Amino acid sequence: MKFGGSCLKDNQAFKKIAEITHLYENSNKIYVASALQGITDILLNMAKNIGDESYIDTHISLIEKKHLDIIEELFSEDTFHYNECKDWLDKKMSELEDCIVDIQEFGREPYYIDYISSFGEILSTFILNQYLLSQGFESIFISANNLIITNDEFNNAYPLYEFTNARVKRQIMPLLENPKRNVIFCVTGFIGRNKIGYITTLGRGGSDYTATILARTIHDVGSDKDIKVILWKDVDGLLTIDPKYVEGSVLIKSLNYVEAKQIASIGAKVLHPKCLEAIENKNVPLEIRNFDNPAEKMNYTTISNITDKGQIKGISAIEDATIITVTSGSMVDVPGVLAKIFGVMGEHNISVSFVAQSSSEISTSFVVKGEEGKKALEALQAEKEFADFFKITWEEISIINITGKKVLDNITKAKIFNALEKQKVKVQSISQSNNGVNLSLIVSKDNIIKGIKEIHNELCEEFDTLKCNES
Ligand code: ASP
Ligand code: MG
Repeated sequence: MKFGGSCLKDNQAFKKIAEITHLYENSNKIYVASALQGITDILLNMAKNIGDESYIDTHISLIEKKHLDIIEELFSEDTFHYNECKDWLDKKMSELEDCIVDIQEFGREPYYIDYISSFGEILSTFILNQYLLSQGFESIFISANNLIITNDEFNNAYPLYEFTNARVKRQIMPLLENPKRNVIFCVTGFIGRNKIGYITTLGRGGSDYTATILARTIHDVGSDKDIKVILWKDVDGLLTIDPKYVEGSVLIKSLNYVEAKQIASIGAKVLHPKCLEAIENKNVPLEIRNFDNPAEKMNYTTISNITDKGQIKGISAIEDATIITVTSGSMVDVPGVLAKIFGVMGEHNISVSFVAQSSSEISTSFVVKGEEGKKALEALQAEKEFADFFKITWEEISIINITGKKVLDNITKAKIFNALEKQKVKVQSISQSNNGVNLSLIVSKDNIIKGIKEIHNELCEEFDTLKCNES
């Protein structure tokens, strides 16, 4: 189970974790915790403002205070668990101060960014562990930098399962599978370490990923394969459409990994997009559940290899993006041009979220998100070969994504295009991979809301219980 920052915000919330622990008392449990709300942002901002002494001082105090407040709310002063937390906080705050001095001296090396942002989880998870102990549960704290071994990509690391499996097997399995014990492992979300021992992080929101990485390794090394991941969130689950576009959108109760990855990487920030990678080949199901409603029997989302057939799962959007089109008569039939274009993007660490090329090979369009547009353009224009032989044009646009098996049908696409035509929403470019369960449409920024509403109304019957109130 993964508990995000909003599950750790006050006494009430911790009580709910205790309640959940009782609900699942017959299962072996690993709890993954995020940092307290806002802490990772503060840590990253400190690294950005590293030269500003007063900024650093204020925010060091703020971090200390936020944790102390929780500790004081959870435990009476001078009790055993209060003192344990207090000592831990003092120790970690002094390590954080050392880390800051290092950054001031040596600069914002990628390693330091991961190191500084790891403190949030290291503090919060220890407090969770102490809380569970104080409630009479058996619990062990494990910092994931002793458990999850990753590659060297700071900020966005990938797990190396071979090594991670070995550690989980050593450090967790003997107790987890011991029928005489009922130990809850409290593992820090978000962080890992590379082979040479530096702390790495798994990308923003990475605690979801920590949970699925652990589920996968337990599946690999354990004898019991009946495993599931539960992400406790402040929503019921994944929604068919963001309510900001269409009111009354409903919960998706069951979808498969492929559909969920499409939905997670676009729009709705409910799920860390990489986290399904860890479990999909192992068939470990994942539930997204509302923390305010732990005993809920019906309304939650399950991601597994099962989908209710034939449906459109959802419509989502990327509102701010740039489409870049590279055109050249001489590009025809020359192998390697795409490799060059995307090579430039790769070198600049820009990820491409949409690609379309006509079979004539005369022009290629691709989309990059948000702020990256300008960076991508400049990078391409700086390459002499492109500047000389290619025309590069760009435009700010939005992307509408329609996800679900039914987008594979011509009829569905015909309906979508007819609906957009009625509202004069021009589709500037389209992309769907062969057999892909996602159709991406490029529209102008002003047309995004109108476009989504129209598609929704047209495909209304696909959304099960969704009322078509606006058509
Ligand atoms: N604390 C990290 C972040 O804010 C990881 C997480 O919350 O999942 O990105
Ligand atoms: Mg979070």
